[in-house]
Amino acid sequence: MAADLEAEVQAIDKNLLECSAEEIAVKWLQANDLQKEVYQHLAYYVPKIYCRGPNPAPQREDMLAQHVLLGPMEWYLCGEDPAFGFPKLEQANKPSHLCGRVFKVGEPTYSCRDCAVDPTCVLCMECFLGSIHREHRYRMTTSGGGGFCDCGDTEAWKEGPYCQKHELNTSETAEEEDPLVHLPEDMVARAYNIFAITFKYAVDILTWEKENELPGLEMIEKSDTYYCMLFNDEVHTYEQVIYTLQKAVNCTQKEAIGFATTVDRDGRRSVRYGDFQYCDQAKSVIVRNTSRQTKPLKVQVMHSSIVAHQSFGLKLLTWLGSVIGYSDGLRRILCQVGLQEGPDGENSSLVDKLMLYDSKLWKGARNVYHQLFMSSLLMDLKYKKLFAIRFARARMLITEENLMTTIIKTFMDHLRHRDIQGRFQFERYTALQAFKFRRVQSLILDLKYVLISKPTEWSDDLRCKFLEGFDAFLELLKCMQGMDPITRQVGQHIEMEPEWEAAFTLQMKLTLVISMMQDWCALDEKVMIEAYKKCLTVLMQCHSGFTDGEQPIVLSMCGHSVETIRYCVSQEKVSIHLPVSRLLAGLHVLLSKTEVAYKFPELLPLSELSPPMLIEHPLRCLVLCAQVHAGMWRRNGFSLVNQIYYYHNVKCRREMFDKDIVMLQTGVSMMDPNHFLMIMLSRFELYQIFSTPDYGKRFSTENTNKDVVQQNNTLIEEMLYLIIMIVGERFSPGIGQVNATDEIKREIIHQLSIRPMAHSELVKALPEDENRETGMESVIEEVACFKKPGLTGRGLYELKPECAKNFNLYFYHFSRAEQSKAEEAQRKLKRQNREDTALPPPALPPFCPLFASLVNILQSDVMLCIMGTILQWAVEHNGYAWSESMLQRVLHLIGMALQEEKQHLENLSEENVVTFTFTQKISKPGEAPSNSPSILAMLETLQNAPHLEVHKDMIRWILKTFNTIKKLRESSSSSPVVETEGNIMEESSRDKDKAERKRKAEIARLRREKIMAQMSEMQRHFINENKELFQQTLEELDTSTSGVHENSPVISDAKLTALGPEQTRVAEPRQVVMCILCQEEQEVKVDSRAMVLAAFIQRSTVLSKNRNKITPDPDTEKYDPLFMHPDLSCGTHTGSCGHIMHAHCWQRYFDAVQAKEQRRQQRLRVHTSYDVENGEFLCPLCECLSNTVIPLLPPPRVLFNRLDFSSQPNLTQWIKTVSQQVKALHLLRNEDCASHSGHSEKMDQLQLPEGFRPDFKLKNPYSESIKEMLTTFGTATYKVGLKVHPNEEDPRVPIMCWGSCAYTIQTIERILADEDKPLFGHLPCRQDDCLTSLTRFAAAHWTVSSLSAVQGHFCTLLASLVPNEKNGNLPCILDIDMFHLLVSLVLSFPAIHCQDFSGVSLGTGDLHLFHLVTMAHIIQILLTSSTEENGMDQENTNSEEEVAVLTLYKFLCQCTGSALKEISSGWHLWRNLKAGIMPFLRCSALFFHYLNGVPAPSEIQVNGANQFEHLCSYLSLPNNLTCLFQENSEILNPLIESWCNNNEVKRYLEGKRHAISYARESNKLIDLPDDYSCLINQASNFSCPKSGGDKSRAPTLCLVCGTMLCSQSYCCQTELEGEDVGACTAHTYTCGSGVGIFLRVRECQVLFLAGKTKGCFYPPPYLDDYGETDQGLRRGNPLHLCKERFKKIQKLWQQHSITEEIGHAQEANQTLVGIDWQHL
Ligand SMILES: [Zn+2]
Ligand SMILES: [Zn+2]
Ligand SMILES: [Zn+2]
Ligand SMILES: [Zn+2]
Ligand SMILES: [Zn+2]
Ligand SMILES: [Zn+2]
Ligand SMILES: [Zn+2]
Repeated sequence: MAADLEAEVQAIDKNLLECSAEEIAVKWLQANDLQKEVYQHLAYYVPKIYCRGPNPAPQREDMLAQHVLLGPMEWYLCGEDPAFGFPKLEQANKPSHLCGRVFKVGEPTYSCRDCAVDPTCVLCMECFLGSIHREHRYRMTTSGGGGFCDCGDTEAWKEGPYCQKHELNTSETAEEEDPLVHLPEDMVARAYNIFAITFKYAVDILTWEKENELPGLEMIEKSDTYYCMLFNDEVHTYEQVIYTLQKAVNCTQKEAIGFATTVDRDGRRSVRYGDFQYCDQAKSVIVRNTSRQTKPLKVQVMHSSIVAHQSFGLKLLTWLGSVIGYSDGLRRILCQVGLQEGPDGENSSLVDKLMLYDSKLWKGARNVYHQLFMSSLLMDLKYKKLFAIRFARARMLITEENLMTTIIKTFMDHLRHRDIQGRFQFERYTALQAFKFRRVQSLILDLKYVLISKPTEWSDDLRCKFLEGFDAFLELLKCMQGMDPITRQVGQHIEMEPEWEAAFTLQMKLTLVISMMQDWCALDEKVMIEAYKKCLTVLMQCHSGFTDGEQPIVLSMCGHSVETIRYCVSQEKVSIHLPVSRLLAGLHVLLSKTEVAYKFPELLPLSELSPPMLIEHPLRCLVLCAQVHAGMWRRNGFSLVNQIYYYHNVKCRREMFDKDIVMLQTGVSMMDPNHFLMIMLSRFELYQIFSTPDYGKRFSTENTNKDVVQQNNTLIEEMLYLIIMIVGERFSPGIGQVNATDEIKREIIHQLSIRPMAHSELVKALPEDENRETGMESVIEEVACFKKPGLTGRGLYELKPECAKNFNLYFYHFSRAEQSKAEEAQRKLKRQNREDTALPPPALPPFCPLFASLVNILQSDVMLCIMGTILQWAVEHNGYAWSESMLQRVLHLIGMALQEEKQHLENLSEENVVTFTFTQKISKPGEAPSNSPSILAMLETLQNAPHLEVHKDMIRWILKTFNTIKKLRESSSSSPVVETEGNIMEESSRDKDKAERKRKAEIARLRREKIMAQMSEMQRHFINENKELFQQTLEELDTSTSGVHENSPVISDAKLTALGPEQTRVAEPRQVVMCILCQEEQEVKVDSRAMVLAAFIQRSTVLSKNRNKITPDPDTEKYDPLFMHPDLSCGTHTGSCGHIMHAHCWQRYFDAVQAKEQRRQQRLRVHTSYDVENGEFLCPLCECLSNTVIPLLPPPRVLFNRLDFSSQPNLTQWIKTVSQQVKALHLLRNEDCASHSGHSEKMDQLQLPEGFRPDFKLKNPYSESIKEMLTTFGTATYKVGLKVHPNEEDPRVPIMCWGSCAYTIQTIERILADEDKPLFGHLPCRQDDCLTSLTRFAAAHWTVSSLSAVQGHFCTLLASLVPNEKNGNLPCILDIDMFHLLVSLVLSFPAIHCQDFSGVSLGTGDLHLFHLVTMAHIIQILLTSSTEENGMDQENTNSEEEVAVLTLYKFLCQCTGSALKEISSGWHLWRNLKAGIMPFLRCSALFFHYLNGVPAPSEIQVNGANQFEHLCSYLSLPNNLTCLFQENSEILNPLIESWCNNNEVKRYLEGKRHAISYARESNKLIDLPDDYSCLINQASNFSCPKSGGDKSRAPTLCLVCGTMLCSQSYCCQTELEGEDVGACTAHTYTCGSGVGIFLRVRECQVLFLAGKTKGCFYPPPYLDDYGETDQGLRRGNPLHLCKERFKKIQKLWQQHSITEEIGHAQEANQTLVGIDWQHL
């Protein structure tokens, strides 16, 4: 069936290809009714090309469509072969100077913060780099796809609209030239025709809704085939769709994933193809399966012809887009066609039609037509503007003339629910949905868009239109005034939290619009005054009748009285939403800024104002906050708490809280302050307390209800705070005589008074304007110093010391927590500076004239009465309900008044009389009947009150300032007042300091004692309970455990030799260590209980020179790791935190962990950061991830080196002897296998070398417990290193142990070399301990493995250098890592040596083995040396070494049959050899040092000259290495010949294969670009390798090898060990043997992965100018590479600490454990 279909398709294709585009075009040119002709053509051919089967075949379809459908159109358009026509057009074209580049998903875009007209104006990377904005302050974002580059649009940029590239184009073309003049007339006509027909066709078919018919086209094909089309929605998850599809259309999971991916990407995908019933059935299954959850998935059964035409419709749109790219004239024509009004009148153009249908189109189609619009309408300057209006009209049905009004009215239409007063009413459930509703949101956006560019000139018409819009806006605000009213709940807690979010969302979204409205008003005085009047009128409408029905009450105090209404916030309705009042407050401030306000205030519409009415509602709102704070509204639940929070929050406060304060300030400035205060007292429900003498006493004593006392105290505190704010907050231009930067400076000063802050923290704490700017950058340097970050952390701004004097403890934007933190910080600062700790109010700028009278509130009678009353309570402190906070606020207010008076006096000009006489008023005693003492007298009393110690400094400051003012008044001369109190105060502060220090010392002592107590506790319970404490004591313990090793005996520095018969003898010190678990000490001895180090073994590719190598499966292929290839493609690394335990203590601990984890996993199914089943655990002391333990051993060599005669064989003799021994062993081995019977006779034939006793069995010297640990660690190394199941019997176990020892030493040598550190003396203790035990362990491991196996390994290893007839097929010397070979040979040698009683010492063997391998390495280096005789400043010394190495090289040339390149410079050879062999010698020095314990000579503990010579001496090598060959030429020459006479070596010399050359370079992480946007750009050009050119969603860069991956996506999941894993995890297995370091480019985040279950995020090495990272790229500041931080990541990698880092991160943050790392 499928084959039939295929054949049929091919036949049709063949047929189709015979069509001639030219002929068809000619027919069309002659046609009378072109549309009919074209439609017929399409009706016939489109279904033959598209949708011939169940799956789309885009390549075939494109090819045929081009040939049969588009070809004729192109011929028709050009009137000739388009292959000639289009290039002609292109040449004649004068290109646009608009860039118009359409952004891909994830592409970087740039906006200039200095020049962009609004933040939506962006540049593409290319334009940006060529523009002037590069040097400006810019912001970088990644595009979400769509959108285009605004380069060249003069209206988008205040400056520099063109980049260099587009600038060029402007010089040639005149601005408004009609591009059509460049086109021949007939072509213009043809273009109109064909564009009109094809565009209409595409629009009609794409917006077509019927399933069985076509628009204006005949259904030619009746072969009723259908598609079941699945559409995208935002409701269903990927998983739901996949699951449903598997059920509905019987597909595999893979296919379902494919369908789902396409649906998600394109918006639709056919999931079934066949007859109607067949498709309909699938549809119903899908609908049934998904309707249960929410809304069913959208599925449609569509006729294949319709789908075919729709596919071609899209193709046509793309085609149009590309055709107009040839010529601006064609573009203009398409614009005209698209915008031409259709037959249905208004809004019936093709463009309108598409836009109106926009939301119904599927994603793929929407993308295509948006692209067309962007490349057509928006690229044509003339149509760009027209289109913008059209766009607005089509979407919102508004008229150009009254944009604002219409938007707002539309908006109001959407919010129809109102209460009886006409206010918005939001219902639960629907309310939030309404706001998520795109349309409402986009309306607000549109409004912002309209307002964003402010007019520079006002016409009368504009004024009129704006004010009309303002009216509409007021209507909107009126509906918000008083919405969501609340009543205090008494008795019972509310049952249901009321809906509040919708109203706040609305307020929040409108905040910027409200601010922008005010900005507009501020631009024109006439508009402003009109707007003010309108706003006032609306406010009066809102409050009309607010006094109705209420009997006014009269309040009187201190001889003043005022009439007001009876109203209690705690009993009646109150609302937080007062946008009309607040808008009026805003306008009032703006009005105050105008010239009129200074010169002719009588012209302002102020007379109509009724101050009590203005303040009423804002005051209620503030009282509500105070009452909530006092706990009176507890029963109203969290919704109220949240509202109060947002009311003060930085996102809302500008148009809420701030404006309420302004309104109160406005009120006070226009009324008698005594009246104001009485009304305020009344609203705070405190009037009684202050108006009745001695009421205070009663309210504390008679009323025993503590809650009420507490409540009243808080209310009084809050009210005083409010007065402080009313008087003190004058930093907005218009209120105080300040400029705009003063306001922002003050905000920053107060933020930084809390603590130093990072740039982003500051930005978050400051309000943003409509351009997302806070204005901070322009002033920050005046008030703060920037401190650069170190390797971690971020850059911080610190407050400049001179700014501290501006600190106001009662700054109105402090939260309570911030206030107390700031207070503490500032007092501390003062103490540090040895100043008194008073925090007096700062000197304030004067008020603007309109607000000037406000200050009188401080000296008003009622205010003085309140102050006096509270001071009185403090004086007679017993029996009154008062609080220190209350007193503190009163003192602050007094301070403010004094500052005010002082400033008045200081700025005294001759004609003015100072009317502010606070000092005089507070000196007067109270009048009868109370006869209270004067405020001043009370302050003097309080100064010495013992219960007010904290406030003493402040009271002293007040009295001092009082005296200063008095003197100022007395002497009009402004001579400075002498301070007499200075000395005393310093004295006392010094005393205080002393006491403070003493107190601190005491605290420290107590803490130490606590730690000691807990330490002893720890000895009994060793599990990690006191984590923090451990961390603190860790360092002490660290030094104490490893301190033991330091006690090595002092050895004369004469000559230290690490190995061989001449090895320096050292008496190993007694090694006593302490178990971290039981805290017992024990000596490390052969026969005692084992002590172990926590260790972590991992596979590693850090040193790999070949990341693509696939290691054979160790299980199935019997992979033999005996020889390490010099590409070091995969090694086994062992690391340790250096913490020591008893083996049995560790066992107990591990069992406990295991049991606990099993229980926990059963119960909670939680994951841990470590995999217990895999033997992982955390070090009980430092929580370092570990997976095994290494036993601690005494130096192992001493144990086996029992014989030591003076005469030792030379290398030649020794090799001969060993060869014989090897041969004997081979024979014996074969014997064993062949027959067990004839054992003895064959043994006789065998010639055993002298003293060799192969039947001798060495007694294992180690205790049982040590043996057990040797096996444990060996097995763990084997298991991890080969990724196999543990099997202690496997002969590969010892190989893996030696390998890990060699590999770990190599990694450490590399790290030291890279950091330019000397070889010895610079390793941290933990690494030193780890290497010692690892080497000793590897040397001892043979005692617990099969002797014959180890002997076998030795024989094979040796055979690679000394060939014998038994071991064929070994790797050639080019393919062996010589250091691994050395370690394995030396460590396996004792297995043979232990049976050798001939008197040869172990040391001799070591030395000969070392020399042999060294020589092999020299040959290896010389063979692979890529020496270039480049005539580099060669010194003509002809030293002994150079001559010798040249001789050796010539010999090599002979051996290789002259295949080796000829080199005549001994100097180069020797230099090359020295450099090449250095790493090997360094590794060997480390190895023998740890093996034999000989201390390193002091010369190699520092960097210095002659390192090579010192190393040679320590390693018992001649300085002239080639001497080795000369001394042993007898045996070496044949060996060298045999090495060279190898097929692989020959192939290499013939250039047929590659070989590693030396010295191998250290691996580094990839180079990263300095500018982060380069990476973003690179990532945006990266497409998913699996889904044909699609953009990847999470492009992720491997920092090890530089591969870009498509992470976190279904498309690139692969199967690994039976599980689906994401691209990153899969990549780690080949690139990093399970460990990976990535950069998630879009998130700007480093990702560490280890295995399938472990991972963490790590800060990226990119910082902005403020020293901060931007994870998630939210802030968009330019980011640059921080080399130090990148080095740190690289070091983590080189040190194999990635897994450990992940472990720590996961322990610290449990949510990381739950992430599905494997899917990344
Ligand atoms: Zn551009
Ligand atoms: Zn440009
Ligand atoms: Zn700029
Ligand atoms: Zn112990
Ligand atoms: Zn540890
Ligand atoms: Zn990689
Ligand atoms: Zn992919």
